[in-house]
Amino acid sequence: MTYDRNNIFAKILRGEIPCKKVYENEYVLSFHDINPQKKIHIIVIPKGEYIDLDNFHKEASEKEIIEFNKSITYIVKMLKISSQEDGYRIISNIGQHGGQEVAHLHYHIFGGEKVGKMIV
Ligand code: AMP
Repeated sequence: MTYDRNNIFAKILRGEIPCKKVYENEYVLSFHDINPQKKIHIIVIPKGEYIDLDNFHKEASEKEIIEFNKSITYIVKMLKISSQEDGYRIISNIGQHGGQEVAHLHYHIFGGEKVGKMIV
């Protein structure tokens, strides 16, 4: 599978469609999900062209991988939902069975209220 540059997150990264930005640095962009499933529902994406977590771990540099993961802790602290506060959940949907709709790697961060045992 090759990366499709027309996916919606690629368009957000290029500034072709807007987003409600939460955080951005050289490696990641984070914004509010357009259809929030919890009080806080944030998307975090790497700026590089990666389809999913497996593709990311295969193709990305160590620096990109570290920065992408570390950004989660930075963002949840910004949002005041870190492990030192009420906590949160991250998930990444991958492939068909994972229910991935947008083929650009992303983490969902849920919080601001109790998330429940699992998201189905
Ligand atoms: P997934 O099923 O993991 O691929 O999730 C894709 C997510 O992207 C869904 O939660 C959508 O609500 C969200 N989404 C789709 N389009 C946009 C957009 N333009 N801005 C923000 N979030 C979006």
